[in-house]
Amino acid sequence: MLFSRNGARPLCFVVILMTAAAVQVGLSESRIRYTNVAGARYLFLSDVADFYSLTYETGSDWAKLSSRWSQLKFRAKRRKAQINGVAVHLALAPAKWKNNILLSRADFLYTLDPLLRPSFQAQKSVKHIVLDPGHGGKDKGTSGKHLIEKELVLDIAELAKNRLQRKGYEVQLTRKTDKKVRLKKRSKLSRRYDADLFISIHANNAANEGVSGIETFILPPSNTPSTHNYDKLRNDYPAHDFNRSNACVAYSLQQHLIEATGADDRGVKRANFSVLRHAVSPAALVEVGFLSNPQEEQQLRRKSYRKKLANGIVQGVRRYHERISRKN
Ligand SMILES: [Zn+2]
Repeated sequence: MLFSRNGARPLCFVVILMTAAAVQVGLSESRIRYTNVAGARYLFLSDVADFYSLTYETGSDWAKLSSRWSQLKFRAKRRKAQINGVAVHLALAPAKWKNNILLSRADFLYTLDPLLRPSFQAQKSVKHIVLDPGHGGKDKGTSGKHLIEKELVLDIAELAKNRLQRKGYEVQLTRKTDKKVRLKKRSKLSRRYDADLFISIHANNAANEGVSGIETFILPPSNTPSTHNYDKLRNDYPAHDFNRSNACVAYSLQQHLIEATGADDRGVKRANFSVLRHAVSPAALVEVGFLSNPQEEQQLRRKSYRKKLANGIVQGVRRYHERISRKN
């Protein structure tokens, strides 16, 4: 099918995606029409739906891809998408071209495909996990009326470590005490520990007291902007080799953190954080809640709530592990 729905000829039709990443995910034989929008390559979502055998529905500025098991909702010009009920901030906003909703190639390769076909990636198993409680020592992080970030995140990391060890993982913390660890040292430690997975744990702060919820960050793919900053990350880092795994790790963590706590789902986001940029394995940074929100701070003061957060991290890791080791 070489023509768009309204009969107009797409700018380019039938693409054979021949990049290394595409070959890696088995797309070299695929035919998905594309066009260029603002210098970036965009794929026709209707063809993407066909590729995954999903049903395609569209309105004036939205598209829905669904099956018995999956439901994905996209809106033109909005970076926030919903993938099986979890908020995922795309690398680039979907575009509209004539009557078609288009998805960026970066999001196809580094957001959508890793979630729909998680077993198509280099990492097949997880054994060594590095948990990274943020801040420490003189660097207190943010604080609320009662809590200090550096203390809260160390407690959650310890709870998660014990639980992960009981599930058979080997777990190291980048700090076990209240001491300052430089950001680069945190990445160096994960190299020393031969990490398969790096999870940094932080707490949030906002000027608006009403803001609450959990969000999980990963590194933006090269040449795409952070979620909250439109400066594009121009450089390629070795950590970009983990783009596909990062999406799957972050999605699994966010899904289970929200499920375990019932907190507001602020979604999977992208940010050019140093610990993500210098990661030597798939990596994500979890923001467990806002100390600036009085109700959420009260929740975070409770041991029972911290245990829920730790359980969410553990379930997220296990779900990621299960997804990548699936044989399909
Ligand atoms: Zn922090």
